[in-house]
This record gives sequence, structure tokens and C-alpha cells, in this order.
Amino acid sequence: MNSKNMYKFLYRLFDGVTPIYEDCGSICSSACCKGDDKTGMLLFPNEQTSLSVIEKDGVSLAVCDGKCRREERPLSCRIFPFFPTVDENGEIIVSIDSRAFNICPLARNHNEVRFSPLFIRHVRIAGQIMMKDPECRKFIEEITKEIEDINLAHKMLIE
Ligand code: SF4
Ligand code: SF4
Repeated sequence: MNSKNMYKFLYRLFDGVTPIYEDCGSICSSACCKGDDKTGMLLFPNEQTSLSVIEKDGVSLAVCDGKCRREERPLSCRIFPFFPTVDENGEIIVSIDSRAFNICPLARNHNEVRFSPLFIRHVRIAGQIMMKDPECRKFIEEITKEIEDINLAHKMLIE
């Protein structure tokens, strides 16, 4: 599957499938859509977007003004606040994305939230599909490390 078709398929997994059953944007006034022209949503390798793109620290970020055509939002926006992390056996583990702690109340309070099992399953499927693509696999491994490091830092702060 080429990248264009892969992302088309991955996007469809999240059509009408959201982290919780209610509109979580009403809890936080859509905090995750309040970036500026210097922050943005990470694009996965070879992911195309109609939004503006900036390069920062060696990665591509899609930048929006808090609005987008929902059907064109990047994959990062669709899977937020989860990420398909990978374990030492190459298995996808759907994890709360600890990079979202500062922004997202669902991420911060994840132990008390009833997430949609379908959403979590689709994040897993998305991860499993991307693991077949060498560039996406490397990207997932790198972000997994970043998420683990943040989790560790949080744990050390708590203890
Ligand atoms: S920040 Fe979290 S709770 Fe708020 S809209 Fe985004 S995903 Fe939903
Ligand atoms: S691209 Fe759309 S969904 Fe993603 S942060 Fe911007 S407005 Fe929100």
C-alpha cells in the first residue's frame, strides 16, 4: 500500500470514532485545537496535508488556526490523546500520549475516563498497519521512547 492510500485508510478508521462517547471538546473548549503558527500537530512520515507545514527539530508539524475541514485533519489529531506505542516484541500497545498531559483533561485524568473501546481498537489497528512501513515503524519507535521518558519523569516527580 502506498503512503497516500495508507493514510486514506487510516483516516477512515476515525470517521465518527472518537475517544469518548460525548464531545470532549465541550469539556476543555477544544484545547488541543488552540495551537498557534509555531506549534502544530506532528505529521507521520510521508503524511500529506492541506494545512500549512513547518519543520521543527527535524519533524514536520501541521499548523492550523484552530479550524480545519474535519475530514482532512491529520492522523495525530484523530488519535489524540492516544498513541500506538510499540513494545520490545514489536507489538502495538495503545497508550495515553503523555505529551498531551499539559493540554488534555482526558489524558491527565485517564484513569477516571471511560474511553471508547472501538476508538482504542482503531488506534491499535492504525499502529499495526503503520508498523509495516519502515519509516512509520522508526517514527513510532522514536515517539514511544519520548512518551516513555515523559512517563518516567512524571513518575519520578510523584514519588
Ligand atoms: S484536549 Fe483532550 S478533551 Fe479537549 S478536545 Fe482535545 S482530546 Fe478532547
Ligand atoms: S488540524 Fe483541526 S483537529 Fe487538528 S488541531 Fe487543527 S483544528 Fe484541531
